[in-house]
Amino acid sequence: MTIKFLQIILCIAVTLFTALTRCEAQNNAGRQFTIVIDPGHGGKDPGAIGRGKTKEKTINLNVSKSVGQLIKERYPEVKVIYTRSTDKYISLIDRANIANKAKADLFVSIHTNAAKNRKARGCETFTLGSGSSAEAKAAAKYENEVILQEENFEQVYGGFDPNSNDSYIIFDIIRTHDMESSISLADKIQTRMTRRSKLHNRGVSSAGFLVLHQTAMPSVLVELGFISNPTEEKFLASKSGQTALAKGVFEGISAYYENYKKSSIPTNTAPVTVECDEDTEQPKADKQKSNDAPIFKVQILTSSKKLKSNDKRFKGVKADCYKEGGTYKYTCGASTDYNAMVRKRKELSKKFKEAFIVAFKNGRRIDINKAKAEFEKKNK
Ligand SMILES: [Zn+2]
Repeated sequence: MTIKFLQIILCIAVTLFTALTRCEAQNNAGRQFTIVIDPGHGGKDPGAIGRGKTKEKTINLNVSKSVGQLIKERYPEVKVIYTRSTDKYISLIDRANIANKAKADLFVSIHTNAAKNRKARGCETFTLGSGSSAEAKAAAKYENEVILQEENFEQVYGGFDPNSNDSYIIFDIIRTHDMESSISLADKIQTRMTRRSKLHNRGVSSAGFLVLHQTAMPSVLVELGFISNPTEEKFLASKSGQTALAKGVFEGISAYYENYKKSSIPTNTAPVTVECDEDTEQPKADKQKSNDAPIFKVQILTSSKKLKSNDKRFKGVKADCYKEGGTYKYTCGASTDYNAMVRKRKELSKKFKEAFIVAFKNGRRIDINKAKAEFEKKNK
């Protein structure tokens, strides 16, 4: 009995010690800029296959490894993680989990495109979104179909069906706080990849890629070129083609990273988390009486995690926070004058492209149109 008890105590002590040491190691590593490179497909899943029998998974892996190598050579301080470095199968959720667990700063998924039309050509970079064109939607649908090879995919992806248009509604609602960074990275990669490869420039688009949806950091998906186009297949399969594409992707990441280094705020002061108002059914009488006019604020970004007040995403702007449905939402300014917030939004939109006005009453968010109507009625 006593021995058993001692064993339990010892076990708890060991577990605590391990947890503490692990925690410390993670804090130190947390400051290292981390890039996750995700070579699409692998193992039992070859991805698209060209007429010349080239497999997408092989091109993706070769290019990914070259990109990683170039990053390591130029920036030894940066940590590079591959979701796979060999020909093995990994589920989409596991790919995203690797990046989320590593608290990566960037996620770059590398793929090769395919289309029924053999004339389709060019390289393209995607960010997460509802789909900017029918072709963008088709590319996302094709890449998402890999989950059909996974067991229990309905449960793992919350009932998401890659072939049902209705499933793609989730990408309409989502507003990721990393959208601006993702677009900036995508632009940089796309320009340089086109320049290096001399492939047709299809530009930057957005579409509902499930793998990007699952990651919690700026993330892009690169489609190197069309394996279904015989000329491009030859280029994609060649060493020189893969080198050119890898250089382009690397140079895009490099441009982003150089910018990041310039703009990151030195963290010599203790980080302070912006406190959040919880969403609650209880009216906050102390903050605002129920007969009071609605208060307008400008929402600048949202996050699934609580942010420190010196987080670089605030771009030096002082923000307030409120919590809604488990998401932290950050706002600037507060006024009962709707027009004042219109001006504020205009000013903030230089830094936060997607800034928009929200309204509150009794400490709770209310419908903006109702709030606006109330304001207009009072100020007739
Ligand atoms: Zn693919």
